[in-house]
Amino acid sequence: MSERAEHVLADAAQRFPKLTFATGFGAEGCVVIDLIARAELPIDIFTLDTGVLFPETYELWQRLEERYSITIRAVKREPEFVEDGQWTRDPDACCEQRKVRPLRKELAGFDAWITAIRRDQTPERANAQVVERDEKFGLWKVNPLVTWTHDDVWAHLYANDVPYNPLHERGYPSIGCQPCTSAIVPGENLRAGRWRGSAKKECGLHVIQPGKVPDAA
Ligand code: SF4
Repeated sequence: MSERAEHVLADAAQRFPKLTFATGFGAEGCVVIDLIARAELPIDIFTLDTGVLFPETYELWQRLEERYSITIRAVKREPEFVEDGQWTRDPDACCEQRKVRPLRKELAGFDAWITAIRRDQTPERANAQVVERDEKFGLWKVNPLVTWTHDDVWAHLYANDVPYNPLHERGYPSIGCQPCTSAIVPGENLRAGRWRGSAKKECGLHVIQPGKVPDAA
């Protein structure tokens, strides 16, 4: 699996002069960072620092930078628009202000962005293509791990001794902001701990707008 993802990343680095990877430091994101760094691909990497990530996530960020001698840029939320506690009152607005709006502003300077999504993570991601036009943000989107399974990801992490978030071993298979992420119990969906008790399943970064079918390349 990893060989194909390596080729996707190398091809994207040639095809798109302004290419970036937006990571949330999930297990999949750690795989992509490992692939980019070991191949020394000229790809920018950043994370959306919402200001309310887990302490373990901030520590992982530092460990990855040290392990691969890379810089992972912080793209900050817009503090003037954000109130603490908004994640409870209006999580969609909170994600819009802490994630979607800063991401849109950041991506305006790029030709394409890389994500670490997998098709089997959510129904919203089931139709993701390896390379697709992202109409929501107005650039190309490269998804090198779309065909990977959960087991593929963990096999790669273990085989290559890639740093990952220790919360994964404490019942957190999917990790987002601290206020909106809880541990799961055996038998639950791997993303059941995200926005638990709410109908919300996505932060809005990877949802294809109705009627906007992406071009496969
Ligand atoms: S995941 Fe929660 S805290 Fe983070 S931006 Fe979305 S609603 Fe806000």
